[in-house]
Amino acid sequence: MKNFYASFGVDDAVAARCEAVAEGLRDRFEAIDAVAEYNQARVLRAMQRCRVDAGCFAGSTGYGYDDIGRDTLERVYAEVFHTEAALVRPQLVCGTHALAVALGANLLPGDELLSPVGKPYDTLEEVIGIRPSPCSLAEYGVSYRQVDLLPGGGFDYEGIRAAITPRTKLVTIQRSKGYALRPTLSVERIGELIAFCKSIKPDLLCMVDNCYGEFVEASEPSDAGADMVVGSLIKNPGGGLAPIGGYICGTKQCVGRCAYRLSAPGLGQEVGASLDVKTSLYQGFFLAPVTVSGALKGAVFAAKLYEGLGFRVLPDGSESRHDIIQAIELGSAERLVAFCEGIQSAAPVDSYVKPVPAPMPGYDSPVIMAAGAFVQGSSIELSADGPLRPPYSVFFQGGLTWFHAKTGIVMSLQKLWEKGLITL
Ligand SMILES: *Cc1c(COP(=O)(O)O)cnc(C)c1O
Repeated sequence: MKNFYASFGVDDAVAARCEAVAEGLRDRFEAIDAVAEYNQARVLRAMQRCRVDAGCFAGSTGYGYDDIGRDTLERVYAEVFHTEAALVRPQLVCGTHALAVALGANLLPGDELLSPVGKPYDTLEEVIGIRPSPCSLAEYGVSYRQVDLLPGGGFDYEGIRAAITPRTKLVTIQRSKGYALRPTLSVERIGELIAFCKSIKPDLLCMVDNCYGEFVEASEPSDAGADMVVGSLIKNPGGGLAPIGGYICGTKQCVGRCAYRLSAPGLGQEVGASLDVKTSLYQGFFLAPVTVSGALKGAVFAAKLYEGLGFRVLPDGSESRHDIIQAIELGSAERLVAFCEGIQSAAPVDSYVKPVPAPMPGYDSPVIMAAGAFVQGSSIELSADGPLRPPYSVFFQGGLTWFHAKTGIVMSLQKLWEKGLITL
C-alpha cells in the first residue's frame, strides 16, 4: 500500500497520519459490521418471503400493466420497512421528487405542513414555497410552519405543541442533517417526536425524509410510527447499482394517494413501466446494507482524522451514527475547494477533472460538488459537496467500498497538506 500511496502522490506524513487513525477504529468497525449483517438478513428474508425469481427481472414497456417484478419489488420494500405499502419507481426521478409527490399527494388546499425540526433540506424550500416557486405547495394553498430545534439540538416540545392547529395535516421530519449543522436524528428520537405530535393530534400524518439514513440502524422510522418514509435510490437503498429512482413506504392510504399523484387519479400504482432497470434495483437493494456499512466506515474515519487535526466535525469521531453524512467545518473557501479536489482525484470516473463552485438549481448559494460516479450524481458513491458560505463545511458521504472511501479521504488530506492549508 505504501507504494500505491506514493504513486497516488500521497506524502509519507499524510499516509502515516491516516494509517494511525485507521488502526484505532477496529471496535467501531466491528459494531458497524454487526448492524450490516443484521440488515443483510432482513433484506434476504424479505426477498425470499416475496418469492423473488428470475421473472421479476424482465423489463416492461408501454403502460407497464401487470409488471410483476415491479410489484414484487414494492412488496420487498414494504416487508423490509414493515409498512402496508410501498411505491418504488424509476419515475420518481430523485429524492426531492419523491418528497414532493408524498407532500403534494397528502396535503390539500387549506391544510398546513409543519416541520418540527427546523428548516428542511435546501431543495424542499421551493417544493414547500418557503422560497417562492411556480407549482409550490404554497401556490396551491398549503401553508407551512416551522419550529426550530433548541440550541442544544433538542425538540422544542412547547413550541411544537403551540404550532399544531386544527389545520395541521402533515408533519415532516428530516432524519439527516442535510446542509445544516445539527445532529442527525436517531430512529428512536424520531419515534419520540412522532409519538408527541400524535398525542396532540392523533390524525396527524407523519412523514420522514429518510435520505441517507437507510440501513444505518437496525430499524427504520416506519418502525417508530412514521406514516411515510421517503428516500432516493441513488443514495443508500439503491446500493450504488440503482441508476435512478425513489421510494415511498407507508400506509396503504398515504402510498395509494402518492401513486395517484405520481401517475394520474384513477391510474395509480397499476401503471408505470420499469424498462430495464429492475435487476439493478433488486441487486442494489440486496447489496445496500453492506454498501452503507462501507460508507459509514469512511465517515467515521474522516471524523477521527479531521477531529484530530483540530477541525469541528459533526458527528464527532466517537458518537453513534444515524446517517452516512460527515460534516467537517473547514473554515475557509480554499480548504473546502481543496478537500473536494482530493475526493475528485480519488474517483474511478472523471478523476482528471477539477471541481469548481457553481450555482445549482434548488440551492441558494454556489455549491461545489466532487464526485466521479458510475451513476451520475449518485451520493452513495464517494462524493463531497458543500455550499460556499460560512462556516465552509464540507458534507462528505458515500463510498461503494470502505477502501475507496479511505483513499478519497487520504487524498483530501493530501490536497490540504500540499496547498499549505493544514499542519500535521
Ligand atoms: C439528498 C436529499 C434530498 C433530495 O434528494 P435528491 O435526490 O438530491 O433530490 C432530500 N433530503 C435530504 C435530507 C437529502 O439528503
